[in-house]
Amino acid sequence: MKISDILSGEKLTMSFEVFPPKADTAIESVKSATEEIARLKPAFMSVTYGAGGGTSKYTLNIAKNIKDSYGVPTVAHLTCVSSARETVCRQIQDMKDAGIENVLALRGDLTPELENSDRSGLDFSHAIDLIREIKECGADFCIGGACYPEVHPESKNQNEDIKYLKEKVDAGCSFLTTQMFFDNNLLYNFLYKIREAGITVPIIPGIMPITNANQVERAIKLSGSFMPQRFKNLVDKFGYSPEAMKQAGIVYATDQIIDLYANGIKNVHVYSMNKPDVAKKILENLSEILD
Ligand code: FAD
Repeated sequence: MKISDILSGEKLTMSFEVFPPKADTAIESVKSATEEIARLKPAFMSVTYGAGGGTSKYTLNIAKNIKDSYGVPTVAHLTCVSSARETVCRQIQDMKDAGIENVLALRGDLTPELENSDRSGLDFSHAIDLIREIKECGADFCIGGACYPEVHPESKNQNEDIKYLKEKVDAGCSFLTTQMFFDNNLLYNFLYKIREAGITVPIIPGIMPITNANQVERAIKLSGSFMPQRFKNLVDKFGYSPEAMKQAGIVYATDQIIDLYANGIKNVHVYSMNKPDVAKKILENLSEILD
């Protein structure tokens, strides 16, 4: 099933993101976690892709397994910045052969290693190049892209970021998933601006439940997200106890999600980080809302 069809419905829905194992030894534990999340029957699940290609072979296997064994539609992430055209074309063909219908087309992060390496054999600079390549291959995928309510860290300013975002959507994106954010007003401001810029595709807000104090620093570093004082207070007070922090983080994420639904958002994507207990608890908290 295509994500565009799911998003065109009237129902409020929730989807989850999972990630592939970083090493062969973790295959079984990741498989079992992703299957447990699939059994919760989310609207769809997305499977991330290692920028350096390290976990790429697993992305497809996990996405196919969730779709075929549990009937949950999947989105396979694909990055391009560290790949040659030939590799990307092979990956697109493998996705077609596996019956994958949805791709999140990403550039991938420019690691210092990548920036300092010889990039002469690499063919893609931005996600838009990958979207064009997918279209050229004639694959009938529903293509999504990433967007940044708080501006991509490499962008000069928000106007420039939104200008490139519009070009990316016009190249063939049917939906956009946002970077995590912890203050919904940032999302609402972003929505005003992109609608004004003529971007009309559905936007899926991405919510990251912070369930342990160590995650906070990592999440901010990764995303550059603004941490509201309300959230900092919660980490200060409950960060000492893993169980208390987990409970508080799930409630904070649930509160953000309820506010998004109350303000007209129909699908929320939860960065469930391969944690079925967190995904389950959030769904339980919303059981009467997502009937
Ligand atoms: P782009 O759309 O290419 O944008 C990157 C920067 O370049 C922005 O500043 C943009 O304004 C600018 N830009 C865009 N087009 C042009 C142009 N034509 N000319 C000049 N500048 C331009 N990373 C992974 O490695 N694996 C994953 O699975 C993964 N999943 C993600 C899922 C989501 C929802 C999000 C938000 C991010 C994800 N990432 C993932 C991280 C992502 O790869 C990084 O954020 C990366 O730095 C940018 O990717 P992009 O696709 O948004 O890039």
